[in-house]
Amino acid sequence: MIPVAEARRKILDGLPRVPSEVVSLERAAGRVLAADVIARRTQPPADLSAMDGYAVRSVDCTSPGAVLQQVGESAAGHGFAGTVGPMQTARIFTGAPLPAGADAVLIQEDASVDGTRVTATIAVAAGAHIRRAGIDFTEGDAVLRAGRVLAPRDIGLAAACNVPWLTVSRRPRIALLSTGDELVRPGEPIGPDQIVSSNALSIAALVRQAGGEPVDLGIALDRPDSLRDAAAQAAGCDLLVTLGGASVGEHDLVRGTLAEQGLALDFWKIAMRPGKPLMFGRTGDQPLLGLPGNPVSALVCGLLFLAPAIRHMAGAGATAPRLAEARLGADMRANDTREDYVRAGLDFDADGGAIVTPFARQDSSMLSALSRAGALIVRAPHAPAIPAGTVVRYIPLDLGL
Ligand code: AMP
Ligand code: MG
Repeated sequence: MIPVAEARRKILDGLPRVPSEVVSLERAAGRVLAADVIARRTQPPADLSAMDGYAVRSVDCTSPGAVLQQVGESAAGHGFAGTVGPMQTARIFTGAPLPAGADAVLIQEDASVDGTRVTATIAVAAGAHIRRAGIDFTEGDAVLRAGRVLAPRDIGLAAACNVPWLTVSRRPRIALLSTGDELVRPGEPIGPDQIVSSNALSIAALVRQAGGEPVDLGIALDRPDSLRDAAAQAAGCDLLVTLGGASVGEHDLVRGTLAEQGLALDFWKIAMRPGKPLMFGRTGDQPLLGLPGNPVSALVCGLLFLAPAIRHMAGAGATAPRLAEARLGADMRANDTREDYVRAGLDFDADGGAIVTPFARQDSSMLSALSRAGALIVRAPHAPAIPAGTVVRYIPLDLGL
C-alpha cells in the first residue's frame, strides 16, 4: 500500500501541461492564468482627491481660519485646467484630479463657505486626502502571475489595468468512461438487478468545478471489446478516467483489457479509506486514471487525485485539498493502517467554532451520507483513539464536493 500523498505526487508527475488560449475578461473567471498580466495603465493615472471638498495649497492653511477665494472646480473626468494660486482654492470632488498648484484637499465638512469665499476651519497638511498617482499599480507592473486561478477580484484588477484579454490554460479535457453490466443511465428503463450510473455525472460535475471539461464516453459493458471500443473514443482528450472495474473481481477487466492495447500501468493499493485500488498509467502519450466504482470512493478519490490532477495540468499551483481544524463532537476509535476520510457532520458553536461529528455508518456506497456530510475528518494511519473535544483536521465539503 502507498500513502495518499505519494500516489498524488506520482499522478501529477505523470501528467503534461495543457496548452494556452486567449479569452476575454467576461469568460476568464475560474480559469488558470498561463501568462503574467502586465498593467497597461497607471492607477490612479494622476493625483486624485479621495474626498469631496476644496483643493488648497497647504502653505496657505498652516493654521485654522485661512480665507480662500474659489477660482474653479475639478470633478471626476473633468479636471480644472487652471492653477490654484496663493490664497486660492478650487472646488473638488472624489476621484477628481488635483489641480496644478494645490497639494492637499480640505474636506467640505471643515470648510465654511460664503459664495466664493471659503474659510478653512482647520489647518491642512500637505498631501491630505489625496490618492497619489500609481499607488494602486503602475504601467508595466506584473499585477497577476501565471498559475493564478482567476477570482472575481482578479477580473476587476485586469480590467482596471486596461487588459481586456487574458492568456489562460485551455480547460483540460477529461474523458469519463463508466464500466459495468449493471449500469443504466438515469431516467432510462431499468431492471431489478440494475443500478443507476451516478458516477459519470458526479465526477463530470467535479471535473467542471476543478476547471476541466468533461467528455462522457458512456457506459462500457464488462467485456473486452466493449471496453476497448469505448476507451478508443478518448483520443484527443488530455486524460481518460475509467470509473469502476478496477478491483480484482473477475468482471473487473479494465486493467487486463487496456494492457493488451499497450497501456503501461501503475496499479496501486492506496492506504486510504474509502478508496480501492487506483490505477494510473498511459497508452502512448495519453494518461489514464482509474477510479473505484463505489460512488463515495469515486468522489473522494476524485477530490484527492482527479481535481488536483486537473489543476496541475492547467498549471495552477495549489493542488491538494486544504485542511481545516475543528473539535470532535464524539469519541473516535483508534485507526488501522489506512488513512481514513471519515464522513462527518459539520456544525458551529455559538462562538463560530467548528465541530465535526463522525457518522456511525461509513459504507462507501452511501451517497446520501456523503451528501449529508459537511466534512471529511482526516485520520492518519495508526492514529490512536481520541475523545470528543479533541482538535482534528478535516476537509470542508461545502466548496469541494
Ligand atoms: P467496481 O469497481 O466495478 O467493482 O464497482 C464497485 C461498486 O460500485 C459496484 O457496487 C458497482 O455497482 C458500483 N458502481 C460502479 N460504477 C458505478 C457507477 N458509474 N455509478 C454507480 N455505481 C457504480
Ligand atoms: Mg464493475
